[in-house]
Amino acid sequence: MSSDEFTAQELRDLFRKCCGFVKRNGYPNMEKIEYLYRCKPQDYWDDIRYFNNNLMETYIKDDNGHSENLINGEIDGLFFSGRLCGSNLKLPNSSPFGNIRMDIKSYLILNPNKHNFYFADFYCNKKLHYVTIVVCVNNSDADDYCQDNLIKLNKFANPFIKAEQIDGRRHNFYINNDIWVEIFYTEDINLNGKEFTRIRATGKGSSNFDGVPNNKRCKICNL
Ligand SMILES: [Zn+2]
Repeated sequence: MSSDEFTAQELRDLFRKCCGFVKRNGYPNMEKIEYLYRCKPQDYWDDIRYFNNNLMETYIKDDNGHSENLINGEIDGLFFSGRLCGSNLKLPNSSPFGNIRMDIKSYLILNPNKHNFYFADFYCNKKLHYVTIVVCVNNSDADDYCQDNLIKLNKFANPFIKAEQIDGRRHNFYINNDIWVEIFYTEDINLNGKEFTRIRATGKGSSNFDGVPNNKRCKICNL
């Protein structure tokens, strides 16, 4: 591990800053979500269908966020969002990341009986603040890595993304809609039975750009 990564203490300080940010207006603004989603260009999905047996495979995280964060280049995953848009809180009908939105039931990625949640990063570009949450299957290699290096969240009580138990098996899920919660899921996902919606691509629709670089001048999210 190189010396330009966050120390455990620095990560804790960043976590504290992030918790302060999401509670800046009082109680965190949590919205119920049925789905998580991932927006990519048509070509990205076609490649998976035609050449990879419909299996969307994890890949190494690129260099978005703080360059000091402890997951860049260390663990593989896939980014998802749960953020709801507009005053009626709908799934987005446009994205800078591509023209096809894949929706996946929240419990497949967030089921707390099967997964652990970790805080990995808090950063911004000039407009929005992001929090990176890693979700791992219990006792997987990625889970071991995160257990040793990141901050483990209480799955039922945290101000970013959380589960609420309905009964022994069923849960509701909630996401903070005042910060952009990026979910980095560390398992491959089969696309069979998933829902796809055509949306408007607002950016270059590149498939290799998953996030944004960190604004180092912001006092809110830098140590
Ligand atoms: Zn910031």
